[in-house]
Amino acid sequence: MHFEDQPQDAEYRTHVRAWLEANAPRKTRPDETWGLHLPEDDRVAAAREWQRRKFDAGFGAIAFPRKYGGAGGRAYESAIFQQEEANFSVPVAFYNISLGVCIPSLLALARPEHKERHVRAALEGTEVWCQLYSEPAAGSDLAGILTRAERDADAGDFIINGQKVWTTHARHASWALLVARTDASKPKHEGLTVFIIDMKVPGITVRPIRQASGEADFNEVFLTDVRVPAANVIGEVDGGWKIIVASLVHERVSIGGALPRDLHRMTLEMAGDRANTDARIRERVADQYLMSQGLWLMSARALTAVSKGQAPGPESICAKIIAGRFLQDFAYFGMDLRGSEGVLAGRELDEAAMTSQRMWFGSLAVRIAGGTDEIVRNTIAERVLGLPPEVRIDKGIPFKDLAR
Ligand SMILES: Cc1cc2nc3c(=O)[nH]c(=O)nc-3n(C[C@H](O)[C@H](O)[C@H](O)COP(=O)(O)OP(=O)(O)OC[C@H]3O[C@@H](n4cnc5c(N)ncnc54)[C@H](O)[C@@H]3O)c2cc1C
Repeated sequence: MHFEDQPQDAEYRTHVRAWLEANAPRKTRPDETWGLHLPEDDRVAAAREWQRRKFDAGFGAIAFPRKYGGAGGRAYESAIFQQEEANFSVPVAFYNISLGVCIPSLLALARPEHKERHVRAALEGTEVWCQLYSEPAAGSDLAGILTRAERDADAGDFIINGQKVWTTHARHASWALLVARTDASKPKHEGLTVFIIDMKVPGITVRPIRQASGEADFNEVFLTDVRVPAANVIGEVDGGWKIIVASLVHERVSIGGALPRDLHRMTLEMAGDRANTDARIRERVADQYLMSQGLWLMSARALTAVSKGQAPGPESICAKIIAGRFLQDFAYFGMDLRGSEGVLAGRELDEAAMTSQRMWFGSLAVRIAGGTDEIVRNTIAERVLGLPPEVRIDKGIPFKDLAR
């Protein structure tokens, strides 16, 4: 396992640092969180601007092919950039769905004309993508979706009706990957098709969902007689499940790698002198240090594979489960340390309180998005450990005949 950069990687890191120093302010503390005081629309505008600047400098799409405007670099260089960028006060997560999930899926599975049309604009950040998969009655059991796509025999188009939910950034998106049922007479995994959807066509209504934190990162999306050309199908009609599985792998890996750095240092800072005088607090600090080191070793293992041009092993999805729990413990600890002040809104206290409260609201999302803890554990049990699969009473039965 590598703990240090190889010589060519160290050179790249120096190059990245020099560009970041010239283009962005360094964080004054490791827990500084960019944009805490800004309204959502301002944060989105700043994220677009930052992506464009990175793109122009060759850092916006490091590991994407040159043919589509990427830098044609290695995945390890992309990881180096992310590590260094985390030390600067800049907007970082807005393009995770576009560039971490949708575009890699298009590159792997879409037709050449789709790649020509869409990839560059997404990499520049001018076109944002969202993922229209989950529905009110189909999240973990994604193959149970009810949204229908029916072919208009005369025009050759598909007409889509249904409802999606929890769609991150739908309000800002120009395009979406959508899954719909095209044949209910087949078993549930077999009659699904993935479409590219223009989010501005008639029949699409986006309603933001206001969260407990006051933000509205995700949305409900209603589709009423939305007409989509047959050319917008990705892969085969009724062959959407393999595209969904591929995009969920991208999503889990990108969520598992999203842990802020130096969390244990922040814990120590928050605990202050009490880490020396109070054994209970010292124990929690020690727990968080161990978790943080364990996660760092898992990410070093995954990055070693990436640096050798190999795919990371199961550590990325294991890290997703551990990171979600760890972030939640960190946020609870930050609130506990405040004592009775912990009930106040962070903005009434200070930035550290705002950070732990933001994480308190957001950390649970890491344990749900891209597959809940339980579902990821099932995946690890079946695919990594080779344990017997879950009992599937719906196996082989046409979707239309399933009890709902
Ligand atoms: C921050 C965030 C962003 C999201 N963004 C998007 C997005 O952009 N696009 C999109 O399509 N979706 C998005 N989602 C939705 C997400 O994919 C679903 O919330 C997730 O898959 C869980 O589905 P569900 O909410 O319907 O819960 P359910 O599937 O109803 O699960 C409820 C509970 O039952 C448990 N459970 C269910 N099945 C099993 C089982 N077989 N074994 C054991 N336990 C089980 C689950 O673990 C969970 O605890 C987002 C979610 C979050 C939190």
